[in-house]
Amino acid sequence: MTSTTRSPLSPAAEQTPAPTRSSTPLSLDHVTLEYPDGEGTIKAMDDVSLRVSAGQMVALVGPSGSGKSSLLAVAATLVRPTSGTVIIDGQNATGLKDRELTTLRRDKVGIIFQQPNLLASLTALEQLVISDHLRGKSLKTARSKAAELLDVVGLASSANKRPHQLSGGQRQRVNIARALMGDPTVLLVDEPTAALDHERSTAIVRLLRRVTDEFQVATVMVTHDTEFVPLTDAVATMRDGRLSAPVPTHS
Ligand code: ADP
Ligand code: MG
Repeated sequence: MTSTTRSPLSPAAEQTPAPTRSSTPLSLDHVTLEYPDGEGTIKAMDDVSLRVSAGQMVALVGPSGSGKSSLLAVAATLVRPTSGTVIIDGQNATGLKDRELTTLRRDKVGIIFQQPNLLASLTALEQLVISDHLRGKSLKTARSKAAELLDVVGLASSANKRPHQLSGGQRQRVNIARALMGDPTVLLVDEPTAALDHERSTAIVRLLRRVTDEFQVATVMVTHDTEFVPLTDAVATMRDGRLSAPVPTHS
């Protein structure tokens, strides 16, 4: 963790005090997720508990089919668990209606998948602006924030490029910047480097480490590459839907 904590980037946020943020933005308690499987069910998550604090980065590892993506989907409130509790930035998602969940997700959760899902006709800047416009922010505010975030991810000079003019690594950077547009408290990242070569993969994981520190988000990153584990604070292993207690990666 570093001491350089950034405040939210929007100019409006500089005038009004930032809303209180939970010191433990992500909390899963005894979460079970069952999918129908033939006549029975399959437990994609089996009594999973996990707490991630602000500025903490947890690596999630485990074999294919062990439930890693399921955990991220439940933490993102994209999938309701069969039982157990998901708390995002102090708010219990269990009792919320779908519309309320959508708002919670939009305002608190940044999601980064393996393949950046960028719109082909939009520039890097526009990809970010559009996401914030959906949050009801003014275009002017969204534009200046988008420009700052592209700078954070090292793409200031590529703001006007469209996806086909960017490399895979640059597209993933746009994806990361976009996920930060809503000042999320939780960042959920699924195999962000699976489509990238080694050098670009390392750069992306380093960037995720840096934004976790600077923006004090609670980050969970699924990775199959144990080489990146030392860049995180703790590693938790998923096996057949069960999650091991996170093991600190440094003292
Ligand atoms: P991982 O990301 O570790 O590869 P997943 O979370 O994708 O694992 O899958 C965990 C288990 O849940 C697997 O057995 C998978 O087949 C099953 N599963 C995942 N999503 C669904 C779904 N939408 N419907 C039914 N089964 C699913
Ligand atoms: Mg997966």
